[in-house]
Amino acid sequence: MGNDQPSTTPDWRWHDENGFRRVVNVAGTMTGLGASVAPAPEVSRETAAATERFVDMHELQALASRTITELTGAEAGCLTASAGAGISLAVAACITGLDPARVEALPLNPGPKSGVAVQMGHLCEYGSSITTGVALAGANVRVAGTATLCKDFQLSAVLDENTAAALYVVSHHVVHYGQIPFERFARLAHEKGVPVIVDAASEYDLRGFLEKGADLVIYSGHKFLGGPTSGIIAGRRDLVRACYLQNIGIGRGMKIGKESIMGAIAAMRAWMKRDHAAIRARETAALELWREALGDLPGISAYRVPDPTGNPLERLQVDVDPEKAGAGAPVITAALGRRDPAIIVRGHEAELGYFQLDPCNLLPGHAELAAAALRDEISRGAWEGIDPEEALASARNGGTEGYLRWLGNG
Ligand SMILES: *Cc1c(COP(=O)(O)O)cnc(C)c1O
Repeated sequence: MGNDQPSTTPDWRWHDENGFRRVVNVAGTMTGLGASVAPAPEVSRETAAATERFVDMHELQALASRTITELTGAEAGCLTASAGAGISLAVAACITGLDPARVEALPLNPGPKSGVAVQMGHLCEYGSSITTGVALAGANVRVAGTATLCKDFQLSAVLDENTAAALYVVSHHVVHYGQIPFERFARLAHEKGVPVIVDAASEYDLRGFLEKGADLVIYSGHKFLGGPTSGIIAGRRDLVRACYLQNIGIGRGMKIGKESIMGAIAAMRAWMKRDHAAIRARETAALELWREALGDLPGISAYRVPDPTGNPLERLQVDVDPEKAGAGAPVITAALGRRDPAIIVRGHEAELGYFQLDPCNLLPGHAELAAAALRDEISRGAWEGIDPEEALASARNGGTEGYLRWLGNG
């Protein structure tokens, strides 16, 4: 109304019309909350335009390849359903090459050269496990090292004539010490002629791994890029072609549609044009707003922390002293989650005595809403009905109980 400031009033009409819980996401890009929101109107526009037309899908994927090349510096690229799918396809590609008969033989008959070398500290889960992603291609993980230490010779020992690929995982969920650094990992693998796959699903660095020797790198299209649900595979042309060929085999159940391809291309283009400094400044302002809202509450100490994998992103860490605050981090996380609107914080490390607030992908008015809710919830201290042990179990068990509860109770 004559005001060109963006609205700061949250818009809940869509939730209310559909009977969905109102959700404020200060947790980051979480599958369980719908991952991300479109960063630019072109993303929704391109997605919608594709839904209304027929097109040759190979041409669409060729445009995706050119866009991925521009974005990452890779020789080629293709899109699939998700980064999780990308891991399975990349492994499959390293097993089959461009032989369609071998593609069709997966996952039952991968042949003897079907091992995938992974450092044990990288065997994490992102909703499902790396091991499952590898196994879907008919491959098997060859574990190198122990939980918190992988020595060079331990990796070399699982790089032999039966090793199809070496997989390196970049995530806040992996162990961050005692692991072989990426360049050295790639060198050891290449010395044995083994191609290197990088799971960089949630990394902002879209060029570094390829520059440092990765043969295939996988990114999520729907995390920081804000595209529709999709997985980006970038890398060596021969291996990307072999990934794409998996569409006649295991890739079929991981297929991406025309609408998501066009939306992901629009999101990649938007990323290349985005004013990253302005977004960072907005994120920092949200962190400061929350820090001020929490600043003087007893037992609470809030401060900015860098992203553990080096993404250009900070979060607000909220340390909770249960004696002084009246409840521990798992209980506070649960209490925030049962509000209306639900305030979903980053609570998967709550057992360590803190939760975090993530400022990426904030919708209009949500930073302010979260600030007021945090202050209200923690200062009121109304934790009744929340069992501390169950709250901790729930934080630890990730999303499994939600899947089990779904359509349950009769
Ligand atoms: C999110 C994530 C995945 C899975 O990504 P999707 O695109 O949601 O399948 C895989 N690996 C890592 C390291 C992730 O962070």
